[in-house]
Amino acid sequence: MAARKAGLIALFDVDGTLTAPRKGATPQILEFMRKLRKVITVGVVGGSDLVKISEQLGSSVIDDYDYVFSENGLVAHKDGKLIGTQSLKTFLGEEKLKEIINFTLHYIADLDIPIKRGTFIEFRSGMLNVSPIGRNCSQEERDEFEKYDKIHNIRPKMVSVLREKFAHLNLTFSIGGQISFDVFPQGWDKTYCLRYLDDFPEIHFFGDKTYKGGNDHEIYESERTVGHTVTSPDDTVEQCTALFLAKSS
Ligand SMILES: [Mg+2]
Repeated sequence: MAARKAGLIALFDVDGTLTAPRKGATPQILEFMRKLRKVITVGVVGGSDLVKISEQLGSSVIDDYDYVFSENGLVAHKDGKLIGTQSLKTFLGEEKLKEIINFTLHYIADLDIPIKRGTFIEFRSGMLNVSPIGRNCSQEERDEFEKYDKIHNIRPKMVSVLREKFAHLNLTFSIGGQISFDVFPQGWDKTYCLRYLDDFPEIHFFGDKTYKGGNDHEIYESERTVGHTVTSPDDTVEQCTALFLAKSS
């Protein structure tokens, strides 16, 4: 791959950008990425773990791209090799984690809402997912909680209490979906992976959720990247062809 342009990398979100939402990539897109990689350095960055990204992009994903950043780059692979890992446990340490978890469970215990189920805190490698009703409620109970929350602001109130209580830890609180919110250190969005790309003065990022509140927003807006919004995998192919392939022939 000696002829590839130095100092330039194209970096792609996975879900909605290289694949239809929650689907696998088509043979056409995989072929296109192989073609693109002959011309420029190519990386992918997804919020999911490597298992999920492998399901979407294929089991040889770490060899198929120059860089693979799973969990937004908390797990980083380059040329098929692991080059870095980070986790909430390592970053915060057991004492601070316990302080957050204890306080959160006490808050939920004192919370008077119509029903509660189980799994109020799900511990993930890069975040805590907190649910006042409990994650193992049924779909119907989920829908009911979402309606109740819209009226009584259970999650926004809880987030504002936690934000104040743990202000010294520089955490980000992100309300998403129907029943929960995520808690993670500031900067653990997709911009996290940029620390591995110091050799690239020109980083083109492609993502579908680049709007404010979307999970591609921070990296799209970052001054280190040239951001591109795409609407589908087909749109990604079209924009990349125009940018990187049209004039190389
Ligand atoms: Mg996406």
